[in-house]
Amino acid sequence: MFTHEKSKALKEEANKTILGGVNSPSRSYKAVGDGAPIVMDRAEGAYFYDVDGNRYIDYLGAYGPIITGHGHPRIHEAIAEQSSKGILYGTPTTLEIDFAKKIQEAIPSLERVRFVNSGTEAVMTTIRVARAYTGRNKIIKFEGCYHGHSDLVLVAAGSGPSQLGTPDSAGVPQGVAEDVITVPFNNIEDFKTAIDHFGDEIAAVLVEPIVGNFGIVEPFEGFLEEVNQVAHDNGSLVIYDEVITAFRFMYGGAQNLLNVEPDLTAMGKIIGGGTPIGAYGGRLDIMENVAPLGPAYQAGTMAGNPLSMAAGLACLEILEKPGVYDKLDHLGKMLEDGITELINKYEVKASINRLAGALTIYFTDKKVTDYNMAEESDGEIFSKFFNGLIHRGINIAPSKYEAWFITTEHTEDDIKETLSIVEEVFKNDL
Ligand code: PMP
Repeated sequence: MFTHEKSKALKEEANKTILGGVNSPSRSYKAVGDGAPIVMDRAEGAYFYDVDGNRYIDYLGAYGPIITGHGHPRIHEAIAEQSSKGILYGTPTTLEIDFAKKIQEAIPSLERVRFVNSGTEAVMTTIRVARAYTGRNKIIKFEGCYHGHSDLVLVAAGSGPSQLGTPDSAGVPQGVAEDVITVPFNNIEDFKTAIDHFGDEIAAVLVEPIVGNFGIVEPFEGFLEEVNQVAHDNGSLVIYDEVITAFRFMYGGAQNLLNVEPDLTAMGKIIGGGTPIGAYGGRLDIMENVAPLGPAYQAGTMAGNPLSMAAGLACLEILEKPGVYDKLDHLGKMLEDGITELINKYEVKASINRLAGALTIYFTDKKVTDYNMAEESDGEIFSKFFNGLIHRGINIAPSKYEAWFITTEHTEDDIKETLSIVEEVFKNDL
């Protein structure tokens, strides 16, 4: 078992200056017995090394962006080369044009694109653009889906599909929450009820085409097509939040994989190759509403910054090589099959959702297809599982329905080592 003396001491130190000791609340987990998260020192390929010298196989992938492993030499070189030519210009660059072309070639619905700095910004702006285009205010979103921390998407469900939302965070005004209707994912009837009820008030429906935020949950056959049809018949736009899904399962978006096209798309994470990034885009006649061409304002000192453009281009060049996603799928299947065998052997009440190199283990025996089912995953068992893994060298997200992300740098040996640790945890800790 690992010891974490330095991590514990650093948590005390961090608390004195950084609010809560962390810069994002999900990092504040109770990994080392006294409420302190493990502090990492460096990351390399598929591994993390903490300040106490322990090594971990990493499946957190920084919550999604890291798909080519940590410190991939090609991305490292691209950043170093750009940095030698200047870090930030505040002017147009050829790099941003090249990168926009590359993304547009991969995801054809992006007739025009804009780069921003985070997934939050990208989603927030698509909503503004949809409101500007339709002249309407309300949006529909799906239960349990996280779309960043802007006011409008930090809203919880009302008690039914014809109810307005309630703020999910202090500081979000009730008036803002009243512009959001939340319905269950994979439930077309509730979606239609919401559209029927609010009709021409609905500017857009915001959807993760494959959910990544209560584990990996795929849409039922025909669900997204029907959402498109019903929304468009109502004069509402369809926005895909592909912040997690773009380039995760194939070279392109979930929209390519599922063969459905939204009007607008928000992206982030992987496309920055590990640097801060967001992007949004879509139909030309809608995007023309954005400044400088139209009345919807969006700007950014760091938007399209050369380091992110260079890192993003390098990352997509790695991902477009033949065989990359086959490898991720192969390792993902190996992990899924191995854990399934152990679930059966140790009679653990658990089920797995997987797509390519991303999977979620839910501690419920039901196949999870919506948020309520994901919520049924047993948090106490997850907590024992998480602690068992992290104290033996496996780093996953500290949430009972977050995905495990495999990178191009993981190997079959890493998966075998992971499976033997999962077996130890199932045998001794649950
Ligand atoms: N949308 C989705 C689907 C996300 O998963 C996230 C982040 N987890 C965001 C938006 C927000 O992105 P960021 O953290 O880069 O602001």
